[in-house]
Amino acid sequence: MDRFAHYEWPFFEPRHAALARRAESFASASLGFAHGEDADAICRRLVQDFGCAGFLHHCVSESPDVRSIALLREVFAYHAGLADFAFAMAGLSTVPIALAGSAALKKKYLARTAAGEAIAAFALSEPQAGSDAKALATTARRDGSGWILDGTKTWISNGGIADFFVVFARAEEGISAFVVEAGEVDASERIEIVAPHPMATIKLSGARGELLGEAGQGFQLAMRNLDIFRPTVAAASLGFSRRAMDEAVRHATERKLFGRALAEFQMSQAKIADMATAIDAGSLLAYRAAWVKDQGKGRNTREAAMAKMFATESAQKIVDDAVQLCGGLGVMRGHPVERLYREVRALRIYEGATEVQKLVIARDVLKGAPA
Ligand SMILES: Cc1cc2nc3c(=O)[nH]c(=O)nc-3n(C[C@H](O)[C@H](O)[C@H](O)COP(=O)(O)OP(=O)(O)OC[C@H]3O[C@@H](n4cnc5c(N)ncnc54)[C@H](O)[C@@H]3O)c2cc1C
Repeated sequence: MDRFAHYEWPFFEPRHAALARRAESFASASLGFAHGEDADAICRRLVQDFGCAGFLHHCVSESPDVRSIALLREVFAYHAGLADFAFAMAGLSTVPIALAGSAALKKKYLARTAAGEAIAAFALSEPQAGSDAKALATTARRDGSGWILDGTKTWISNGGIADFFVVFARAEEGISAFVVEAGEVDASERIEIVAPHPMATIKLSGARGELLGEAGQGFQLAMRNLDIFRPTVAAASLGFSRRAMDEAVRHATERKLFGRALAEFQMSQAKIADMATAIDAGSLLAYRAAWVKDQGKGRNTREAAMAKMFATESAQKIVDDAVQLCGGLGVMRGHPVERLYREVRALRIYEGATEVQKLVIARDVLKGAPA
């Protein structure tokens, strides 16, 4: 199956297929190192390499092209989970500055991020505020022309290696966004997860921050950001899914048992058919959500939630079936499908767990229901 065939779909323009092919040739030549042990060092190098190659430019645009960010995530995820992670975090954390930042904030952060010279992080979640993000307790108060922040943020990707954080805190006017330099926070409490990524709990104790956008408008900014990034989480899970299917198909055609190739058994074929169908359905949902956003005709919240929910849930099943087809090899540490099995799990949790996406979709459907 041509892994690039879907870029000919009507959601795309010729520039998208060209970008995907450029990313593919970069990724196949340059991402071998991204499967090493030291996730911090790998991510630092990935950000520099992406900056030099020009890919981070897509993360600092004031009108981000969601299809481009999504397809880059799909291509990078196919090759290495950490590559997708490093690219996605640059976008998730910098797009809010591009969307709402003052001219001074944009000047200070966007060019450095695009060049791969600064690592960004996005700090919304707290120990008592995950799915219920509005329950956040970090506070912000005015201090002269600046702001002082106090509180604890957790599950912060890039915590420990980030140069700056976009932090959401409660001000007198309501939830507001701030940019906080790494030197202002304590990111020494690191968190280890099933597929190693740089991550930390960060403590703000009298931390100085610069207001991002208007005071009281931070939650709306976070939600606008999610409308952009949820379709790209779906796209990343498609990258993992396509890789899992390719590995499984290769194994099933090569492996002989009971005198035949594994792929000749109908139970194997049923798994392969389900994988291919779920990948196409997920791609249609993901790139529809991205396309709707790129049309600039209003919000894509429902489409983004559907895409994220369906593609991440399907990816879990596809990767699990790939492990099953590979037998013992599928759980051998370092095998591509074993890596995917660990990588794919968190996608059903972050940026809104599946249950949260269901609430978003149902709320939107019920809004249109007769009273
Ligand atoms: C790998 C990873 C990276 C992350 N990176 C970041 C980051 O960079 N910045 C950041 O701010 N946060 C980040 N997070 C945090 C992430 O956004 C939260 O983990 C997520 O919002 C869920 O919050 P929680 O873990 O507190 O779970 P909880 O909110 O306690 O939810 C637990 C579970 O309850 C279920 N649930 C939730 N709501 C409902 C409901 N209404 N009805 C029924 N069931 C429900 C879901 O299954 C959910 O998984 C990251 C998390 C992970 C795992």
